[in-house]
Amino acid sequence: MTVGSMESAQLFDAGAKGRGLRASKELNIGEVVFAEPSFAAVVFDSLFTQVCHNCFRQQPQLHRCAQCKFAHYCDRTCQTACWDEHKQECGAIRKTGKAPSENVRLASRVLWRIHKDTGIASDSQLVSVEQLQEHVADLSQDDLQKLQADVKSFQQFWSYGRKQHSDDDVSHIFGIIKCNGFTLSDQRGLQAVGVGLFPNLCLVNHDCWPNCTVILNHGSQTALSSALHSKRRIELRALRTIAEGEELTVSYVDYLNTSAERQKKLKEHFHFDCTCDHCTKHINDNLMTAAADGDGAKPSAEKVKEVTAFSEKCLEKIEQARVEGDYQEVLRLSLQCLEKQENVLADTNLHKLSVLSVVSEVLSYMQSFSEAAEYAKRMVEGYAKLYQPNNAQLGMAIMRAGITHWHAGHIEAGHVLICKAYGILIVTHGSNHAITRDLESMRTQTEMELKMFRENKDAYHIMRATALKMPMGSSIKGV
Ligand SMILES: [Zn+2]
Ligand SMILES: [Zn+2]
Ligand SMILES: [Zn+2]
Repeated sequence: MTVGSMESAQLFDAGAKGRGLRASKELNIGEVVFAEPSFAAVVFDSLFTQVCHNCFRQQPQLHRCAQCKFAHYCDRTCQTACWDEHKQECGAIRKTGKAPSENVRLASRVLWRIHKDTGIASDSQLVSVEQLQEHVADLSQDDLQKLQADVKSFQQFWSYGRKQHSDDDVSHIFGIIKCNGFTLSDQRGLQAVGVGLFPNLCLVNHDCWPNCTVILNHGSQTALSSALHSKRRIELRALRTIAEGEELTVSYVDYLNTSAERQKKLKEHFHFDCTCDHCTKHINDNLMTAAADGDGAKPSAEKVKEVTAFSEKCLEKIEQARVEGDYQEVLRLSLQCLEKQENVLADTNLHKLSVLSVVSEVLSYMQSFSEAAEYAKRMVEGYAKLYQPNNAQLGMAIMRAGITHWHAGHIEAGHVLICKAYGILIVTHGSNHAITRDLESMRTQTEMELKMFRENKDAYHIMRATALKMPMGSSIKGV
């Protein structure tokens, strides 16, 4: 079945999980196990005018393809680089008069690519795209109806109604996309902007406590000639030392869910029962649902139940207010919820962590950095007790907490957090990733400011106030 080969990983029979990948040599922490360009990828429908269809960066003022008026690019260089992928899509949009949904566009690109290059696009690709797993047979009635509608829309678009593939063949491609589609984020890794298919990555099985992580690297687009651009690609990176022969795993879901919730999500989206160590032994479930055990009296089980139910309702209302852009309401609801949770839920309780995350974010947005920093600190302390040490989400959360402290003028704590985040992101993202480079310059900047702070606190505060263009606070009056 293997058609290509890779230096550090090989296909193997992973028992009940089906096929999997294992290390073919010892891997070091932070090592790139493999890098892989997408077989095909598309920008989300909702962002098609805001994200470059070639490099997936968010940019103001993109240029539109003059022919289909649908595809958008940073510049000519990106347009030229993408023409091969876009050419047939461009023709189909012009013929049919309208771009179909992202799902149909992705399936179309996959099939055009199969026609052009077959299902194997490079020497290191281990299986052909058509051989990837799908679970069309396991789909719910609802999902099956959606799939059938997509197939119909595909047939009208791909060859303008002249059927070249049977509906079953097309369903198979949609099934593969549904199970294996990987969400692409923008260049800072902060917003999901599209979806793509990476055949080798699809072979990496899930574990809730994985030994690898996957990150999208947008490459460098600074050179003027597109030939010198490095292309967007995913990197599979080792989170710890991995022995030769050990199975490589990534997590398909966020770890911050109880084992029952994670298993439910995995069953719904990926159609398997997770039997990883953390699920079978329910590791950390107790911390994620823990009651407070501070100095006060221990809350009764009833009280915990009541506050948990209240928090669930409140988080729904918070989400609603957030969607409506009513940030004052988001803040009011979150603070009210935190007050209820105080002395009832522990700081590692997922309901409390969710609210802490919202509060710190909304206060930062409102530029109340000092208050935001306090909540962010509690949040990352809770996260650190749950996530594995080199988790990418943990690194990003610590980075945000560090920036909040820095903005609040808490330079010592800010610098420590930024260094900590850098230590994690160097493993999960690598030194070339845009966000790691940002962190590195923040680290240099906060180091310089910290030195200044230690030498002359007043001068430091004046400098911060000027930098933030804020009226000088009372603490530095009279200098
Ligand atoms: Zn671009
Ligand atoms: Zn076009
Ligand atoms: Zn699991």
